[in-house]
Amino acid sequence: MNAMCLRATKIFGLITTVVAFFSTSLVSQEVSILEEVRAVMEDSRVQAAFEYIDSHDDETLETLIALTEIPAPPFAETERARIFLELLNSIGIDNSYIDEVGNVIALRKGAAPNPETLVISGHLDTVFPEGTNVQVQQMGDTLKAPGIGDDTRGLATLLAILRSLNANNIETKNNILFVGTVGEEGLGDLRGVKHLFTNSEFVISSFISIDGTGDTRVTHQGLGSHRYSVTFKGPGGHSWGAFGLVNPAHILSRAVHYFEIAADAYTRNGPKTSYNVGMVQGGTSINSIPAEVSMQVDMRSESQDRLIEIDSIFQRSIHKAVREGNVNRRTGPTLNVDIE
Ligand SMILES: [Zn+2]
Repeated sequence: MNAMCLRATKIFGLITTVVAFFSTSLVSQEVSILEEVRAVMEDSRVQAAFEYIDSHDDETLETLIALTEIPAPPFAETERARIFLELLNSIGIDNSYIDEVGNVIALRKGAAPNPETLVISGHLDTVFPEGTNVQVQQMGDTLKAPGIGDDTRGLATLLAILRSLNANNIETKNNILFVGTVGEEGLGDLRGVKHLFTNSEFVISSFISIDGTGDTRVTHQGLGSHRYSVTFKGPGGHSWGAFGLVNPAHILSRAVHYFEIAADAYTRNGPKTSYNVGMVQGGTSINSIPAEVSMQVDMRSESQDRLIEIDSIFQRSIHKAVREGNVNRRTGPTLNVDIE
């Protein structure tokens, strides 16, 4: 269950970021960005836009409730997408459509001759499965419903921003692309956003995702991750009768051992980098040499270089363990490993 404070659209920090983009053409020095933000914030039209968002909070909450009550489990976002598109159109947008994978795309054109494109996005799907009761309940000053914060609030915020820009006749130099994405959660594997970046007609220069309930935190760094499913396969056999065959469970353990030692040393210093063997599976009984065991591994880093390095530590550990397992086996065929 997500809970939302009734003051849904207190999004000044976020809008400051957006506003900064309006007048900038990617200024590189922090000082000039700050000056630019200050100048934009002092503009009376921008101040009016903030006031407009504040004074239209009831309307934003109404939209939030209406959208929340349209179920949007993973891979079933169509109805919510349709309504979200209708709402964008009713506020007023230059061009809008639903793309091949189901993302809602709405373009508010910039005035510059060759405008860049800023995306402001929220995701259409929620983590809650089909059949979940999505009725919104109000308890005191709090609204409760599955998915209301993550991320229906993002969608309602997009609409509030568009409404305010239009109502206050704020023209921007650059394009703003309002996007409701599909497949953000779980097995959706970010398919909406991936499609947006790889197959859309727009060259995206900046991207802001509004997600979750926090008003005070802006995440401005990417966190890269590599994930693997690793399967060790051997002939398998009886623990006594076939003793001496290469044992996939032992080789997996050996691989984890080498990986853990090297990865632990590597991640003690420098930009945060993590590693995790999250699942280990396989085998059939206590007295069988397993024919197959597997593990699921997740590695993350704030730094692309370090992610690549921990990945190669991981790969080296596996290959070393497999090599040794095959050399040390006393009988039978070799062991294979699949890394996916
Ligand atoms: Zn989310």
